Amino acid sequence: MVELKDDAVQAAFRETVRSFIDTNSPKNKTDGEADPEESGWSKEARAKTKDWRSALVENGWIAPAWPKEYGGAGLSINEQFILNEELAENGLSNEGGFGVMMLGPTLMIHGSEEQKAEHLPKILKGDVIWCQGWSEPGSGSDLASLQTRAVRDGDEYVLNGQKIWTTGAQHANWMYMLARTDADAPKHRGISMLMFPMESNGVSVRPLVNMADFKGFNEVFFEDVRVPVENRLGEENRGWYVGMTLTDYERSGIGNSVGTQRRLEGLLKAARTTDSNQTVMNNSTTWRLSYADRWVEADIARLFSYNNNTIQVRNMVPNHEASMSKLFTTELSQKIAATTIKLFGLYGTLWDYDRPEALKGRAAGGYLSAVSATIAGGTSEIQRNIIATRGLGLPRG
Ligand SMILES: Cc1cc2nc3c(=O)[nH]c(=O)nc-3n(C[C@H](O)[C@H](O)[C@H](O)COP(=O)(O)OP(=O)(O)OC[C@H]3O[C@@H](n4cnc5c(N)ncnc54)[C@H](O)[C@@H]3O)c2cc1C
Repeated sequence: MVELKDDAVQAAFRETVRSFIDTNSPKNKTDGEADPEESGWSKEARAKTKDWRSALVENGWIAPAWPKEYGGAGLSINEQFILNEELAENGLSNEGGFGVMMLGPTLMIHGSEEQKAEHLPKILKGDVIWCQGWSEPGSGSDLASLQTRAVRDGDEYVLNGQKIWTTGAQHANWMYMLARTDADAPKHRGISMLMFPMESNGVSVRPLVNMADFKGFNEVFFEDVRVPVENRLGEENRGWYVGMTLTDYERSGIGNSVGTQRRLEGLLKAARTTDSNQTVMNNSTTWRLSYADRWVEADIARLFSYNNNTIQVRNMVPNHEASMSKLFTTELSQKIAATTIKLFGLYGTLWDYDRPEALKGRAAGGYLSAVSATIAGGTSEIQRNIIATRGLGLPRG
C-alpha cells in the first residue's frame, strides 16, 4: 500500500488526531437494532453520532477548512488532509453536511453581514440542517436549464416549481436552492440563489426510495412559496456564479480512497475465512486475479488523492485532476462491489441483513448502493468531458 512519510510537524498533528479519535469515536455505527425509517441506522447509532458531532464542534474540527474568524479550525491544507485520512481510517466522517461543506464557504464569499451572522454559527453548532435544491426532473447535468420560477412581488419572491433527488430534505430545516428569476435572459444569467426554511407555506416533501432501499432522496415541490428578498444569496440573476463558487477545499478525496482500501481489506479477510463466510470463489484463479487488480487500483486512487492535495498545497484548485480522481474512485467502487458479490457465488445475491452469508447480505446491498456513486456530484460522462476539454484541450462538441 502507498504510504507517504510525515514531517515532524505533520506527525505530531496526526498523533493529536489519533488520540482525539481514540477518546471520542462512536463505536460501530451498526450497533443496536436497525431502524428502517432511518436508512438502516439504529437509534443508538444516531445518538452516538450526535455525541461525536458535539466532540468535533468542541474541538473546532467540524469545519476544518473554515477560517478561525468564522469559527472554523483554520487548518492548513495538509492538516485537513491528515484529519480526513485518519477519520476515514476509522470509518468516520466530520459530519459537517451541506451546511459546512457547501453553504458556509459560499456565505463567507457572497453573503451579507446579516446572513453570515445569522447562519454561520448555527451551521457550526449543527442547530440547522441544510439541503441542496439544485436538480430538477429535466435539469441535472445541464443544471442551468432549470425551470423553477421565482417571481418578484415587492419585498418577496414567489416560488413555484419542483426539485428532485434532494438528499436529506426530509430532515432538513432550511434549503438553499437555485431558481429562475429572469425567464428571458440567457439560461446562465437569469438564475438567483435563495434560502428559506423548509416549513415555509407551500413547501412539500415527497420521499423517493432508491433500489438499495435507501430513504435519503426526496422530491420537493413549491407552490406559491414566499421568500423574502433579503434571503437571496448574492445578486439577482447572478445565482449561477454564486452557486458555482461552492468551493470545497475539504474534499480532497482521501476519505473515499481510504474507505475503498478498508473495504478491500474486509473482503480479503472474508476470502481467507472460507468456512464461516460461505465463500465459494476464493480458490478460483479468475477471482484472485480480479482481487489483485482491485488492490492495485485502490493504491492508484490513493495517489490521485495525494495529487489533489499537492495541487491545493500549491494554492491551486484541482480541476480536471479532481474529475480524474472522482471518475476513477467511483468506478472503482462499482468494480469492488462486483468483485465482492462474485466471491460468494450465488450467496452473493442474497440481500438479507438477517442472514449470515455474504457479509450478512452486505455484498448485495453494497452492489446496489454503489450504482449511485457515478451519478452523484456529476456523472462519469460529465467528468470525462471535463478531462477531455479542460484537461486535454480537446474541442467541445
Ligand atoms: C447519491 C446522489 C445524491 C444526490 N443529491 C442531490 C442533492 O442533494 N441535491 C440535488 O440537487 N441533486 C442531487 N443529486 C442529483 C444529481 O446531481 C444528478 O442526478 C446528476 O447531476 C445527474 O443528473 P440527472 O440525474 O438529471 O441525469 P441527466 O443529466 O439527465 O443524465 C442522464 C444520462 O445522460 C448523460 N449525459 C448528460 N449530459 C451529457 C453530456 N453533455 N455528455 C455526455 N453524457 C451526458 C449522463 O451522464 C447520464 O448518463 C444526487 C444524485 C445522487 C445519485
